[in-house]
This record gives sequence, structure tokens and C-alpha cells, in this order.
Amino acid sequence: MKNFTKVLKQHNLKTTPQRLAILEAVYKYGHISIDTLYIEIKKVFNSISQATIYKNINIMINSMLLFEVKLPNEKSVYEIVQNKHSHFLCNCCGEVTDIYIDTKQMIDNISKEYSFTINQTDLVFSGTCKKCKDFNILKN
Ligand SMILES: [Zn+2]
Ligand SMILES: [Zn+2]
Repeated sequence: MKNFTKVLKQHNLKTTPQRLAILEAVYKYGHISIDTLYIEIKKVFNSISQATIYKNINIMINSMLLFEVKLPNEKSVYEIVQNKHSHFLCNCCGEVTDIYIDTKQMIDNISKEYSFTINQTDLVFSGTCKKCKDFNILKN
């Protein structure tokens, strides 16, 4: 378990039991949706509202402690900021996996080809994950 009190302090944020609970849940899941987060946090703070959770998440996003992964046709998931990476969304089980690929060449090509300046490079690939593919093979 990480020392999230220290992490909050490093980001100049006040430590509250709610924030610690949110960070621990995000850490445990890797990527977590607001719905799952709400269920997890409610176990500890029975009367907490989704608005309060959102408020805290947004504060931590603005402080670059949390990152919102925007998924196509799905609700966003949240993760703790780490090395830049892309994501894979399984349309079958909904699992989100971190992918580490070098996107530099691709960005250079697009910039050159279209004369665009690219400043947002969050990539989400989607399809069927290995687990679901193996399961489907077994089923057929
Ligand atoms: Zn899957
Ligand atoms: Zn990720």
C-alpha cells in the first residue's frame, strides 16, 4: 500500500479520510469508474454523496494526482497518474488495460502530413481482450 498521505502532501492537497479512501480504491482497481468508486467509498463513508466524490476527484485531477481516462461510449475511468501510456478497452468485459507503446513516430507523421499541432495524445484502443477471446474459443 502506498503512503497516500505523503502523496497528497506532495501535491499540496489537504489529507482527508475521504480522499485517502478514494485513492486507495483507485490504486486497488487500477482503473475505476465513478459507479464502482461510489460503491467502494460508501462501504466506509455511508452517507457520502456521488457529488462529494466527484468534487474530490476533480480536485485531484487538477493537481495531476488522478487522471481521467475518457473512453468511447463508456463512462470515464480514473487512475493514479503515472508514466504516460495508452489504453485498451475490452468491449466484451469492459476491462481497461494499460498499454505502453511509442506514439512519437505516429504523432510526428500526423503533424507532418496534416500540419497539425498535436497536444493531446490520449489513445484508447478497443476490441476483445485475450481473456474474452480465449473464453469465446472454449464456448464454440
Ligand atoms: Zn475482455
Ligand atoms: Zn492506465
